[in-house]
Amino acid sequence: MALMETLDELESSTPFQSGAIKEVRFVAFDQINRDSHLLASFSESAGEEKLVLFIESKEILARRSWHIQRLFFLISSARHFAEQLVSQGFHVLYLRANSFDEGFATLHNSLPAARFISMAPTSFSLRKTLESANFEIIVNDLFLTTPQEFEDWASGKKSLLMENFYRWQRKRLGILMDGEKPLGGEWNFDHENRLGPPKNHHYPPYLNHSRDEIDQKVIVQLRKDFPSLWGEDPDQSWATTRDGALGQMQYFFEHHFAQFGPYEDAMPRAEESWQVHHSLLSPYLNNGLLHPREVVTAAIERFERGDIPIASCEGFIRQVIGWREYVYGIYWLFGEEYRESNHLGASRKLLPLYRDPEATEMACMKDVVTAVAERAWVHHIPRLMILSNLALLTGIRPSEFLDWMSEVFIDAFDWVMVPNVIGMGVHADGGAMMTKPYAAGGAYISRMSNFCNGCVFDPKKRSGEDACPFTTLYWDFLDRHREEFLKNHRISQQVRGLDRLSDLDQLRERAQEVLTRLSAGTL
Ligand SMILES: Cc1cc2nc3c(=O)[nH]c(=O)nc-3n(C[C@H](O)[C@H](O)[C@H](O)COP(=O)(O)OP(=O)(O)OC[C@H]3O[C@@H](n4cnc5c(N)ncnc54)[C@H](O)[C@@H]3O)c2cc1C
Ligand code: SF4
Repeated sequence: MALMETLDELESSTPFQSGAIKEVRFVAFDQINRDSHLLASFSESAGEEKLVLFIESKEILARRSWHIQRLFFLISSARHFAEQLVSQGFHVLYLRANSFDEGFATLHNSLPAARFISMAPTSFSLRKTLESANFEIIVNDLFLTTPQEFEDWASGKKSLLMENFYRWQRKRLGILMDGEKPLGGEWNFDHENRLGPPKNHHYPPYLNHSRDEIDQKVIVQLRKDFPSLWGEDPDQSWATTRDGALGQMQYFFEHHFAQFGPYEDAMPRAEESWQVHHSLLSPYLNNGLLHPREVVTAAIERFERGDIPIASCEGFIRQVIGWREYVYGIYWLFGEEYRESNHLGASRKLLPLYRDPEATEMACMKDVVTAVAERAWVHHIPRLMILSNLALLTGIRPSEFLDWMSEVFIDAFDWVMVPNVIGMGVHADGGAMMTKPYAAGGAYISRMSNFCNGCVFDPKKRSGEDACPFTTLYWDFLDRHREEFLKNHRISQQVRGLDRLSDLDQLRERAQEVLTRLSAGTL
């Protein structure tokens, strides 16, 4: 059987002609997992009765100025997965439709008596679409915690601290536990994991993923249909198959895992290492090629072989069973309007430098935005303390910054980007998720990165022509929101520091100039 790509091909197929198709099972591009609830119970022998449906929506592809590597990764992975199902004997339709609504309506017309089934989707918007297309929605088992379990955990709690959720996960899932106690005597080894970039360090070579015919076709098609996509063409950074994703996971455990912890927050320049010791697994965890359970199991197995420090193992496990599951729970708990939050009343338009790294002389922004253009990825600290920090300090409208982040990152999906940006990145929810804003000046960036050596600005200076824009804007941000932050005990001490600044007037003046020039793309 071949992959069907049009309605005509479906309607001339034997199962259709004989009226055998009783069920349509829809696979979203972030649910491409053969062992999922949707497909595991679905044996090849029942293939004639069941149609597996993929839809590529032109409306979504054309809607935004996406990073080409993001679309490439999602489409090519889905196409490889669809082909794999065909080779296993499944009856698969991969439809290019103008929109999901149109694709589902077409299928309903062709198969009026069939049941339409989908796993719970990962966004509010797709949930609405599926509901209005009369889908039966079954549990999504690609996460370790369902939205209902998270809600039960959160219920009645005054504070939703991630650390408390994480400890609950460790106990509930029995991971890194020694009876009732945490293995190694501590829940969290973060205090050991805060080193800046190492000097003369050996970084393992990057694992390259070779491109096949399906990949090549997707690249050519994207460039032809959407010539104005952002970013550089796909290189060999990202796999588009399950084998490639598994290879990436093994490579991480063998070559990076031991050093993951200490350098988790370090930001060397991208030319030294753009990966540092991060796993690069988020795209595959998020589109279904890897399940978080198998990643955690493999991590523990590797740790038990004996040469991985507990701080690295615990740090990695915390990201996967803690942060990742936490933001998924927060997305559903806080509801659809959460994305519109704008507690600080930020209204500035997105700065030109986010689309064009040549529009700035700030070495850190230039390096990070260039890295994003090159492969649609940077690790969590540049996302938080460079990209989001500047958006926070300059007061960019949160929805505009959220759109940009969602367009350019390889691993962006609504459930994960909304809490990370709105709650963590730009404090637009007023502290509902994180208790303090992640605002920092040049001193933090200088300590945790190699960007400042050779930058035209001086991270220690807050006023004057060569003052670091981060340092100036950090103090100006505290000054602008003085009343608000004095009420927050986690940041009030820094706000009081404003009173010790002898050059506050010059700093305010410089901040206005910096904001104007950043908006004009001339700083
Ligand atoms: C402002 C901001 C936006 C972000 N947007 C996304 C996003 O759209 N998609 C995304 O997957 N991650 C996002 N993250 C989290 C984190 O930056 C990425 O998961 C990580 O950089 C991916 O690289 P990695 O797989 O090498 O991660 P590693 O550092 O190796 O961590 C292992 C895994 O932990 C998980 N993880 C760690 N932190 C988080 C987190 N805060 N939220 C969710 N999962 C987490 C990821 O699945 C990741 O693969 C964002 C973080 C910030 C601060
Ligand atoms: S001096 Fe300031 S602008 Fe320059 S790299 Fe350092 S933090 Fe960035």
